[in-house]
Amino acid sequence: MKFSVLASSSKGNSTWLESGDTALLVDAGCSCMALSQKIKAIGRSPSAISAICITHDHVDHVSALATVERKRQIPIYATGGTIDAVCASNPAAADWPWIDIAPGEDFQIGRFSVHPFSVPHDAADPVGFVFYDGIAKLGYATDLGEPTLTIRAALADCDALALEFNHEKRMLLESNRPWSLKQRISGRSGHLSNTQACELLVQVATGRLKALMPMHLSDECNTRDAALASARAALLEKGVPVSVLAQPAYPSPLMEIAPGESATAQ
Ligand SMILES: [Zn+2]
Ligand SMILES: [Zn+2]
Repeated sequence: MKFSVLASSSKGNSTWLESGDTALLVDAGCSCMALSQKIKAIGRSPSAISAICITHDHVDHVSALATVERKRQIPIYATGGTIDAVCASNPAAADWPWIDIAPGEDFQIGRFSVHPFSVPHDAADPVGFVFYDGIAKLGYATDLGEPTLTIRAALADCDALALEFNHEKRMLLESNRPWSLKQRISGRSGHLSNTQACELLVQVATGRLKALMPMHLSDECNTRDAALASARAALLEKGVPVSVLAQPAYPSPLMEIAPGESATAQ
């Protein structure tokens, strides 16, 4: 399995994932042109995309869909709540090739077996995913207010984790953001702080985990260094040697996830 984080922040989210001749996007939340440029920058072609898996309907996760689907009808896997919410804001979306999925019910896309699981977030029926290609297992969870038993069970024993490290609590509280927004972000249906992400990480990391990608970092209320330092400290405490791949810029280089090895850039 190979992956590249094409974009990851409140301005836009998309991750490229491939195994054999199957290529997926997880979320499509940039402009279509930016997405296309990023895919070409990692040496791949947008025409290779087999399907798109959507975590939830927030604009930073779906904004490219309208243009992508106008150009080429690519199957979109999403929960009924996500489909309804996207269609409510864009009536043309009713004609897109949606495939309705349910949390807890696994499905197959080419080489990938995909496990969707519920996450607490202020969207309609949001999910995270675990992708397994018969060799390696990647857990993907961004946009979640708090770790839950369901999330801990889903993310246990992965080879790689793409996990939200949204904000540093102190920076959020000291920011100039309105109090209501601070409450929304730090609430149980908001976003994971570095501390919460580390708690979850320590609970799910096993000797199998080789790579961690801190995701969805807030520009204003987090820094790459803070996310990296907290993740490394948590992993040191747990005693598992894991590559922490926090990118200074996106897209990240295409990485191979192989069991028993740390992820390596190509
Ligand atoms: Zn988001
Ligand atoms: Zn969101």
